[in-house]
Amino acid sequence: MKTFTSAADLQLALREEKNNHKSIGYVATMGFLHEGHATLLEKARKENDIVVLSIFVNPMQFGPNEDFETYPRDLERDENVAANGGVDYLFYPTVHEMYGEEPSVKVVVQSRTDVLCGRQRPGHFDGVATVLAKFFNIILPDRAYFGKKDAQQVAVIDGLIKDFNFPIQLVAVDTVREEDGLAKSSRNVNLSDQERMEAKELYQSLLKAKEAVESGERNAAAVTALISEHITAQTSGVIDYIEVYQYPELKPLESLAGNIIIAMAVKFKHARLIDNITLYIE
Ligand code: AMP
Repeated sequence: MKTFTSAADLQLALREEKNNHKSIGYVATMGFLHEGHATLLEKARKENDIVVLSIFVNPMQFGPNEDFETYPRDLERDENVAANGGVDYLFYPTVHEMYGEEPSVKVVVQSRTDVLCGRQRPGHFDGVATVLAKFFNIILPDRAYFGKKDAQQVAVIDGLIKDFNFPIQLVAVDTVREEDGLAKSSRNVNLSDQERMEAKELYQSLLKAKEAVESGERNAAAVTALISEHITAQTSGVIDYIEVYQYPELKPLESLAGNIIIAMAVKFKHARLIDNITLYIE
């Protein structure tokens, strides 16, 4: 595995790979790697000649009162996970390398952002789309792998790739979970022991909602109420949102039909957790 901190050097090395007709799979992360990331790498490894991993905690996608400073970081550990995961090129740029003194252009996401995390985190998806547009241009991957845990992010990236004509195939990968159902996340380390026990209830509440839908519940408000009651009763977390939409359009529906997403965000003391399930209803 080769590690690069310079975008220009990485571009040069990858151009060489392209000239040799190697296909490139790309996994974008903020580091503090876990099995969710490893699963993305594994899929990229299987489907491409070359695997590129970026680790970059992107300040542009964090709000002023969010956890940019305290986001967990451990490069040494990540390098081991990356090497074991079959990464060929690890890109680990500084903020200055990515943005210089002050960026003069940014990407503004115009749809699918007024709901879910987009509503709670204004500007977040502009930051995600901007940094990914840069990474896509630096790496020029054939395929890019993203987790369905961040389902709204997948929807936004789908728009970015289509609208900006990136010749990249977007591959969405199922959420990887702990044994008790908690979605793996770098932020889980910021949960207290008590909160960690409670955190499994996010997925439990989604399963409850799924069961209700499968038993015939079609009222979106009734489904979100069911989840809300469960989270309030079983956890000390504060609900940020519980919402149901068409997926991937993220349009509201009163009566559930077709492809839907049931998504939630819950704030614990030092970690805001998100989770979702997607369902198809005839
Ligand atoms: P992050 O480092 O949290 O920005 O995540 C980097 C990539 O890994 C994103 O595409 C995430 O959706 C994906 N990812 C994070 N957690 C999981 C998980 N538990 N299962 C599957 N993919 C994940």
